[in-house]
Parts: sequence; structure tokens; C-alpha cells
Amino acid sequence: MTIHAGRHAIVAGGGIGGLTAALYLARAGFRVSILERAPVLEEVGAGLQVPPNASRILDDLGVLEPLQRQALQPQNIRIRRGKDGADLSRLALDDAETRWGAPYLAAHRADLHRALLDRVALEPAISLYLDRAVAGCQIRGQEVQVGIRRGPLRLSETADLLIGADGLHSAVRARLYAQDPLTFSGLTAWRGLIDARAAPASLRLPESNIWFGAKQHLVHYPIRAGQCVNVVAIIDDTWTAAPNAQDWDTAADAGTVTARFARWHQDARALIATVPAWRKWPLYERPLIPSYVEDRIALLGDAAHPMMPFLAQGAAMAIEDAASLGRALRATSDIPAALKSYNAMRLQRTQRVQKEAKKQARISHLSGPAAVVRDIGMRMMGQKRLLKRYDWLYAPQQS
Ligand SMILES: Cc1cc2nc3c(=O)[nH]c(=O)nc-3n(C[C@H](O)[C@H](O)[C@H](O)COP(=O)(O)OP(=O)(O)OC[C@H]3O[C@@H](n4cnc5c(N)ncnc54)[C@H](O)[C@@H]3O)c2cc1C
Repeated sequence: MTIHAGRHAIVAGGGIGGLTAALYLARAGFRVSILERAPVLEEVGAGLQVPPNASRILDDLGVLEPLQRQALQPQNIRIRRGKDGADLSRLALDDAETRWGAPYLAAHRADLHRALLDRVALEPAISLYLDRAVAGCQIRGQEVQVGIRRGPLRLSETADLLIGADGLHSAVRARLYAQDPLTFSGLTAWRGLIDARAAPASLRLPESNIWFGAKQHLVHYPIRAGQCVNVVAIIDDTWTAAPNAQDWDTAADAGTVTARFARWHQDARALIATVPAWRKWPLYERPLIPSYVEDRIALLGDAAHPMMPFLAQGAAMAIEDAASLGRALRATSDIPAALKSYNAMRLQRTQRVQKEAKKQARISHLSGPAAVVRDIGMRMMGQKRLLKRYDWLYAPQQS
């Protein structure tokens, strides 16, 4: 391992990507300051699927075991048709560890975040500062100067390396890309958590469920060892409010989602009726960018490649980014060269996932004859061939 004695890295953002990056930077010998804009750390009350490509890395960090104590391991992914509940496919996940070398988990976001925070707390090289918003950055010779806002105060800090893990509305990305429009995707995600005792018995099984329908789809899976069921409805929608980093997760009216699913199979309707409170997230897109790095600044996670949630890979890609960043920085003490190598490792794969996730959005929401063709195709393909289509994503990477 290359020793980076006294080298300092600043990580903008204490989300899943930022915390994972900090752990790998510490492993690469850096002193790490995580600057988090929020005055209090709290993850949204929602579920998160942790696929094998992410759980493998969490295992490497010692985070998988504490997470597994609270997460649930779905036995399969069940795909159904919204209007009549017909089964289109069932993909076995119980042999994920044999097939892909790591488990497929369904977790509460807060549990993953907490497991990472607990691991960060054990690492003397990492300091986490709340209520510090990165507001700008500038390369100054061999250093990066980082502008920070703390309430009314304007502060400045220097580092050898800056990682922008500050999400969809990244200030670091804004510094690298001046022309970078944020576009509403035409989809909103409605999320809710149900006490499992209130959910219909057939929907409490340890399965990850996806229902396809015209212009909308539904996902649900149990989390917290089966105590809660996470529900996400994604619908073709309009959104007129200006994108705002502060209020993109808003309370939502249950009547709208109930009406949208009124003609769906009774199981889906029963599930939707039991959600006590919905939160609505407009899904935004940014253009694919030609590079995630500039000199000694790198982007990671949603700051680099925000994606549609249809492959359940946004957080997983942030976790992969962090591991690749660590590997690149351990290989050489030349920071700009290491970041170039990180970029080469990540650009193609993450952009492929972005494109595939968008394609999956279209497939899930097909209607009319196109939906009929999709359903026949899925049934004919069978579970073996369908599962094989995920090998490139879940299996260990070569680089
Ligand atoms: C409906 C839905 C379902 C999803 N399901 C899954 C799933 O099942 N599996 C999966 O892998 N992914 C899923 N995702 C995607 C996943 O949530 C994101 O990709 C992931 O959270 C990105 O992590 P991140 O750390 O890059 O960014 P974020 O989670 O956005 O974290 C960014 C952090 O930076 C902080 N910050 C922002 N600006 C600044 C600043 N200027 N200075 C300092 N700090 C700042 C924020 O407060 C935040 O803490 C889903 C997304 C949606 C919308």
C-alpha cells in the first residue's frame, strides 16, 4: 500500500456514497474530513435494495454483518402484471451468494446509513462535520481550496483531494460543469412504509415484488427482518414546481395514488390502501458527462451519475465508485493520475447502468400491444435466461 502521510481529503456529503468513500480514503492512508450540509444526519424513511455488487463491498468494509442483522434476504424477485396479478416471472435470489458471490438484501436506508456511520466512528482518520455546505472549490497548485457555508459564516479549507459526493444537486459538479441542466424525467416516485402486520399476508412473504402496468409500476418488499413493508409506486406524471434541493421529497396525497391504481389487481390495491403516509419524489435527470474528474477533484454517486431507480443501482453504484476510488489511490501517490484511473474504471460501467435503468423505465410502463409482447417475451425467456441478464451487473468486476 502507498502511504500518503499527512495527506488530507475532503468529502462533500455524508450520504451512502460519501461515507463509503471516506472509509476507502482512510484505507488508502488519507486523513478525511466529511463535510455534510445537514445539521442533523437522518436518512429518509424508505427501503433500499442492496444488490450483490454492493453487498460484496460492504462486506469488505465490515459493514455487511451489522446490516444483515436488520435487513431481509428476499428469496426471489416476483414480477406480476398490474391489471390482473398474473405472474410474469419469478427470479430466484436464494442462491445469490453462489451465483454472484454476495447476498441480495432489502434494507431500510437508515439502517445502511447507520451501519456505515458506526464504521466511520471507529476510524480515527475520519472526522465528520455537520452543518457544513461545500459552496465552491478551486485548484491552487498542489491543493484544492474548498469554500464552505456554515449558517451565516463563510469558511475555507484546503485539501490534497476533494470528492464531490453531494448528490443530485451537487455543488462540486456545478463547479466542473457550468452547463448541466436538471430535467424532470416525467416520473414521480411515491414511497411509503407499512407495518407488516397491516399488510395483506400474501404480500409479507420474503420476496421483492415488481408489478408492471400502463404508465406506472409498483415495487414492494419487506425490510427490517420482515417488520415493515417498503412500497414504491412510480408513475408517469407532471411536475411544475421548480427543482429545489431542499423540498424534493414532499408529503403527498393518498387519493392521487389510490385513483391511479384503482383498476389494478386487488392485492396491489389492498397494499396501497394500507400505506399510512406517502412521500412524493419527482425523478430528475442530468446529462451524461464526459468525465467524473478534474485534476484533484472527483465526483461520485448521484453527483456523478444520477439514475432512474428501475435497476435499484443508484446507491450500489456510489458504493462501487468508492471502492474503485480507494483502489486507484492505493495504486499510486500521484493524485491526478489516480483520479484518471478512477474515471477510467467507472465511466463506462456507470453510464451503461444509467442507460439500462432508463430503458427499464420504458419497459415497465408499456401499454397496449407493446405490453402484451413484453409479457409473452418474459414468460418465454424463463427465469434462467432472465437471471443471466443481471450477471454483468452483479458479478465481481475484472478491473
Ligand atoms: C424511489 C427511489 C428508489 C431507490 N431505490 C434504490 C435501491 O433500491 N437501491 C439503490 O442502490 N439505489 C436506490 N435509489 C438511488 C439511491 O437513493 C441514490 O442513488 C443514493 O442515495 C445516492 O447516494 P449519494 O451518497 O451519491 O447521494 P445522496 O444520498 O443524495 O447523499 C448526498 C449527501 O450530500 C449532502 N449534501 C448535498 N449538498 C451538499 C453540499 N453542498 N455540501 C455538503 N453536503 C451536501 C446531502 O445532505 C446528503 O447527505 C433509489 C432512489 C429513488 C429516488
